[in-house]
Amino acid sequence: MEDAKKFEVIIIGGSYAGLSAAMALGRSLREVLIIDSGLRCNRQTPHSHNFLTQDGEKPGVIAEKARAEVLKYSTIKIIDDLAVSGKKNKNGFVVNTHTGQEFQSKKLIFATGIKDIMPDIKGFAECWGISVVHCPYCHGYELRSQKTAILANGARGLHLASLINNLTNDITILTTCKADFNPEEVSKLSQHKIEIIETEFSEIEHENGQIRNVVFNDGSKRSFSVLYAAIPFTQNSDIPLSLGCELTEQGYLKVDNFQATTVKGIYACGDNAAMMRSIANSVYTGNLAGAILNKELTDEQF
Ligand SMILES: Cc1cc2nc3c(=O)[nH]c(=O)nc-3n(C[C@H](O)[C@H](O)[C@H](O)COP(=O)(O)OP(=O)(O)OC[C@H]3O[C@@H](n4cnc5c(N)ncnc54)[C@H](O)[C@@H]3O)c2cc1C
Repeated sequence: MEDAKKFEVIIIGGSYAGLSAAMALGRSLREVLIIDSGLRCNRQTPHSHNFLTQDGEKPGVIAEKARAEVLKYSTIKIIDDLAVSGKKNKNGFVVNTHTGQEFQSKKLIFATGIKDIMPDIKGFAECWGISVVHCPYCHGYELRSQKTAILANGARGLHLASLINNLTNDITILTTCKADFNPEEVSKLSQHKIEIIETEFSEIEHENGQIRNVVFNDGSKRSFSVLYAAIPFTQNSDIPLSLGCELTEQGYLKVDNFQATTVKGIYACGDNAAMMRSIANSVYTGNLAGAILNKELTDEQF
């Protein structure tokens, strides 16, 4: 393609999923533009775990290494910008950015991730990814054998408790409202000496992101070293929806087994389309999206 603003594929989001998709495409000499606004969801977490060859590495170091590897492929370009709109035209898609640039492509990949919605609890955001965490697979081993709280209720609380029970024997579930467990579940939790506290709280006392106490609204405090929290999320970008991509009931972009969304020519990978939130899964789904999209382009040309 000769026009500097025209690409075969535009990838929106240049973190683990987007870079992985780009590598698969770059290795097939596809002209790719990655647009990335640089706000990875794990940017506050000091160390990343459970991704082979990079276990314990800083998340930013993994991302920088990935970016450098991908940029070795001469048909791939990256710009640091925010995609603000996407439209379909007869040749494919047109994407506009925050800095006023316009790009065209035959195909689109969304690797835009998700945004965690922090609860209105003082200190929560400061501790997020450090001592207030979402996932035992990412952080559980390092935070094992500690005084642990779980901010969740019902099925989600029970699920987290069952996973974390293997990592520590000091667990308290904080439901912040009436506990939603049936008698069998209550008995199971009690068998494992898991306490349930229903009192609301709106403050976490911490030192540099390390949780010290949960301060309940009745004025009492409980000391914890770790808090697991199941919090809601939203899609980082509404461009896929504006182009007609459907969401699942849980709020993920609906994709088939090959990462194709419900709109022809648009793929999605990483957190925005998967319940399994991990770098490994983002790299896997990005790799798959890149390869299948390359095949789609090949089928159209060959
Ligand atoms: C606190 C925390 C700790 C974690 N720890 C671990 C861990 O230890 N191990 C592990 O395996 N996983 C961990 N995870 C999960 C892991 O970080 C994610 O699964 C992974 O980052 C998802 O990759 P992604 O590329 O889909 O999205 P992200 O990494 O979130 O990146 C999305 C990218 O898209 C960009 N973007 C979004 N919208 C636009 C737009 N409109 N235009 C341009 N760019 C856009 C963003 O700026 C960002 O750079 C953690 C997650 C969190 C929240």
